Amino acid sequence: MLQPDEIIRSNRKTLSVCIDCFGKLTVRAPRRCDDERIFAFLREKEAWILRQKAKTAGAGIDLPPENLNGYSLSLLGEKHRVLLIGGDYIRFDPETKQIFLPEKNARQRLVKWLKENAKRIFLEQTCRRAKEMQTSFQSVSVSSARSKWGCCTFDNRIRYSFRLLYAPKEVIDYVIVHELAHTKQKNHSPAFWREVEKFVPDYKRKRKWLKDHAILMHIF
Ligand SMILES: [Zn+2]
Repeated sequence: MLQPDEIIRSNRKTLSVCIDCFGKLTVRAPRRCDDERIFAFLREKEAWILRQKAKTAGAGIDLPPENLNGYSLSLLGEKHRVLLIGGDYIRFDPETKQIFLPEKNARQRLVKWLKENAKRIFLEQTCRRAKEMQTSFQSVSVSSARSKWGCCTFDNRIRYSFRLLYAPKEVIDYVIVHELAHTKQKNHSPAFWREVEKFVPDYKRKRKWLKDHAILMHIF
């Protein structure tokens, strides 16, 4: 039988269930709802719940442990291994895809390194795509946002979450094209999506990938 990880009772009238990107199952229920009704509701939703849980497990992504030595990190869609070392500098071997990370302040150093690389890689690709799309932008910056992969301000300053770096190249490209399309259309109208589709014909698949891998927003 399905067990909820958390039951939140409040002044609501109906039952609802949700699963976050870690597979945690939360039920929201009216204050006076008895357990029997909650379990009946979960049985009713069982197929959907199991499907969602499988999806989370299927992402196959490990959240970073306290000790980062040996941690496998996906960058541009490829597995990289973090190895802790002495000394003061991060070293990266593109051949073996190993990141040699100083033990001291390992986490902060790694995030700083990820942000620097994200900025360089995203800026390069944004310039390339802007030319093809015959548009321009004010600036590209990188943030720690967990709520969105990218955004474009009214005056065309584009910002990306550095965590987008964990996604495959073609997914990153979709987000870049999406933000650049906002320099022409400040909305998500059919005209906006037509513009995206011109440059990323299978953008729907990439959007779905990002949705299915929301867990990446919780790495560092
Ligand atoms: Zn948008």
